[in-house]
Amino acid sequence: MYSSFLSLSAVVDSSILTVTPSTPLGEIINLINSGGSDPETVKLQQVQDNFSVISRGNNSILVTRDRKLLGIITSREIVRFIASAREIDKALAADVMASPMATLKESDFRNAFTILDICARAQIDIVPILSDRETLVGAATLEKLLQALEPSGLLKYRSVAEFMTKKVVSVKPTVSVLAVAQIMVKHGVNFVVISDDGPIGTIAAPEILQALALNRDLRSLPAGEVTNASFDLLDRDASLWQAHQMMQRLGIQKLGVVNHQAKLVGILPQLSILGIFNPGILYGFIETLQQQLGTLKREKLDLLQSLNKNVEISVPDSVSGMQQETERDYLLALISMRMRQSLDLEEILETAALEIRTWLQTDRVFIYLCDPNWNGLVSIESVSAIRWSLLGVNLRNDYFEKITTDTLIRGNAIAIGDIYTAGLERSDIEFLERLQVKSHLIVPISKGNSLWGMMIIHHCTETRQWQAAEIDFLERFSPQLAISIHQSSLLEQSQVELAERKLAEAQLLHNAFHDSLTNLPNRALFMDRLGHAVERTKHHHAHLFAVLFIDLDRFKVVNDGLGHTIGDQLLIEIAQRLQTCLYSSDTFARLGGDEFTILLEDIADNSEAIAIANRIQQVLLESFNLSGYEVFTSASIGIVISSSGYEEAESVLRDADTAMYRAKARGKAQYVVFEPAMYAGAITRLQSENDMRKALERNELKLFYQPIMSLATKKITGFEALIRWHHPERGFIFPIDFIGLAEETGLIISIGEWVLREACRQLIEWQRQFPVDPPLSVSVNISSLQVTHISFLGLVEQILQETGLNPRCLKLEITESTIMDNMAIACQKFEHLREQGVQVYIDDFGTGYSSFKYLQDLPIDVLKIDQSFISKIASDDNSFEIVKSIMALANSIGMGVVAEGVETIEQLKCLEKMGQESVQGYFISRPVDSLAAEQIIQELQASS
Ligand code: C2E
Ligand code: MG
Ligand code: MG
Repeated sequence: MYSSFLSLSAVVDSSILTVTPSTPLGEIINLINSGGSDPETVKLQQVQDNFSVISRGNNSILVTRDRKLLGIITSREIVRFIASAREIDKALAADVMASPMATLKESDFRNAFTILDICARAQIDIVPILSDRETLVGAATLEKLLQALEPSGLLKYRSVAEFMTKKVVSVKPTVSVLAVAQIMVKHGVNFVVISDDGPIGTIAAPEILQALALNRDLRSLPAGEVTNASFDLLDRDASLWQAHQMMQRLGIQKLGVVNHQAKLVGILPQLSILGIFNPGILYGFIETLQQQLGTLKREKLDLLQSLNKNVEISVPDSVSGMQQETERDYLLALISMRMRQSLDLEEILETAALEIRTWLQTDRVFIYLCDPNWNGLVSIESVSAIRWSLLGVNLRNDYFEKITTDTLIRGNAIAIGDIYTAGLERSDIEFLERLQVKSHLIVPISKGNSLWGMMIIHHCTETRQWQAAEIDFLERFSPQLAISIHQSSLLEQSQVELAERKLAEAQLLHNAFHDSLTNLPNRALFMDRLGHAVERTKHHHAHLFAVLFIDLDRFKVVNDGLGHTIGDQLLIEIAQRLQTCLYSSDTFARLGGDEFTILLEDIADNSEAIAIANRIQQVLLESFNLSGYEVFTSASIGIVISSSGYEEAESVLRDADTAMYRAKARGKAQYVVFEPAMYAGAITRLQSENDMRKALERNELKLFYQPIMSLATKKITGFEALIRWHHPERGFIFPIDFIGLAEETGLIISIGEWVLREACRQLIEWQRQFPVDPPLSVSVNISSLQVTHISFLGLVEQILQETGLNPRCLKLEITESTIMDNMAIACQKFEHLREQGVQVYIDDFGTGYSSFKYLQDLPIDVLKIDQSFISKIASDDNSFEIVKSIMALANSIGMGVVAEGVETIEQLKCLEKMGQESVQGYFISRPVDSLAAEQIIQELQASS
């Protein structure tokens, strides 16, 4: 209940009809009238294949072509058309429909309020839902929303007067239907009230359309003939709940609202009940709840006190010398008072049984409930000796069904002095014998006009003739008991309401501070807790806390590639997995999107935060199985420790974000602990994103070239193109500091295109200037996003064509994960490029999956051994062995090897000994700009 977090599917109405712009209006009217369900419609579907009926039963129709939404036809549009008195026969959907209109993208749906908001703003009750590709996927309707929200609890506390439409347009039943349509348009109302001396009913679009479908002439047809009389009146002070129930019971969509003089003062359309979900009203509601709870508690106390007081008034001071009559009155008052001292039903009944048994000096008094749901077990009784007890005995028996006669219902007792002479049936006597009954007296306990229960009085020791005075007393006592029962049930009810309100309040509060998808605390709650932690640390310096800022790597790829549903599923499962890494005292929140934060309090030092970051990486290693897809993910984590002396929560979060961003830039799937130097160096992410967009336009990107040398010939065979960003203020920025962001923002696509074109252009220029045999080649780094991009193949081919570069001179460097994460698509594309001569290199080999089993079947030409192995090759036997086996294996499956990161002569010698052919690294040359590279080539030519 109160679920502002309803999913989109809960509010999407699948019974929305769609038509094409050329569907005749006449057919649409028929369609609406039949609710899409008459045989005519089915026929239509078969006759016209462009006429699609998604489903049935709604008054609105969407006009589409190829699943693209063009317009909408609600009854409002049709009435407007009718009012214009244009010819219906010739009109098509396109002439009638309204457009443009308010729509909602699937991915923009947050919660039910999103829909309410749009409806309220655009004054509509249906919102078409579009996919991100702008195709129609359904429509959310207020009606569906009302069903889904089940606002029962809230409705009880709001009056009809608050939500009714005060604008009531009334017309006489003699006015023509056409005039009614025109009046509706003129006054901008959805219906008019047909009223003679008093309101008779209403006319809205459905009535007009029905008349049309019956071929009636609207000009001459009097409104009175089509008036919808299923219209009822309700008091303005009634609760919305009453209104809602009345409409449901009567199956009507509007109620007339009257004041105390029975004058019509407004109309309550069913959907206006949704106004209750207006956020302003809801939040006001939370505030008043607190006050109301207090009032209710006070009322309960007052009620108890006043009840006791009232009864006391009727209790005489003394019993002595009183008439028998007065004495019984006194007794009645006394028993009543005792009963009323409690508002607990069981206690009341027990007191009554005890008092009556004592007064009558009888053996057994118990309560029998006339409720089919009662289990039949005696639970309330008073007995003179334990042997008469019936506690827990099941008394369901025909006998009791038979005696609930009119006598009892009228409030009269049934007395039997001797069960053997009262003319009872044999089976009844046997039943009573089993209960050891000799005489009995049955007193009805009524509730309104029906029997709530019976007080059953048994005399077991001997037969007993009941006195008229006794019976009379009990008949007067019974209504007193009924009052007490009623009061206790009132209290019980108010307690239920109290509990309901508390629940509503708790739910609303929960919603305000939790993320609806994962049910984790949201940003507001997280910032609140973080704020408290910051305050605590200010006063107790020893109190250390840490914040982990977690951002999923490549979440966008999952979301875009597999759809939002899977994306959502992934977020939920990740939230669950991360939770297993934490203690319940840690605050784990979802800030939004794929960003999560963790607040760890009372930690000893930052090693605890780092341990959690490691654990998180660990649990994310295992793949997720989402609706049959195997999804791999990792996270970049920024860590901040409170020791830096923060003043406010925002700064903590900002620094954690900066550190997280560093982790991304360093290649993702890792954590980075924030250091103040990062803040000084790193301009805010937003700024750099903006700057990067401009970098391309302003020619701030440059390519540097690092030579690759053949050890056999000691000649340069080509270059690796490495990007640099010459920032106007920050100077040269290295790829490690911006490629990550470029990938995340998608800018890598245009940057990558520029790199490829520029590298090929430069190479062809050098090839022309410095022809050598074999010709120089260029290696270009390609990001995974580029490979999966739709135009990748076309782009490479186009650039080769444009520049005239021989494809054999172009090498594309990709990482292992690029090919592993997108196996099918990457293989297919690289296969194609290799057929034309382009070579594919695996960069940083040895740092990723490194499975030869896979490699040999993949479209790969060369492995570039990562510099982390080369750097240790001369000093560490392990690295030496690894490099040796990579070379051997590559050789065995016919792949080439490039050793990158060669920095020393020892490393070079080592590689030479191993028979390594191609090398790259600072020892040969650092990456240099094109002019310097040209010089290197010139020297090379001169030397040969
Ligand atoms: P990478 O493709 O593995 O490039 C080699 C990196 O190692 C370069 O860093 C290079 O300057 C550095 N390096 C070369 N020789 C040595 C050495 O002897 N010792 C050491 N310590 N380092 C050496 P750089 O230029 O900073 O590039 C870093 C990474 O950024 C590249 O690694 C590549 O993954 C990426 N990158 C560079 N340019 C581009 C580009 O145009 N597009 C894409 N998508 N990524 C690029
Ligand atoms: Mg590279
Ligand atoms: Mg590399």
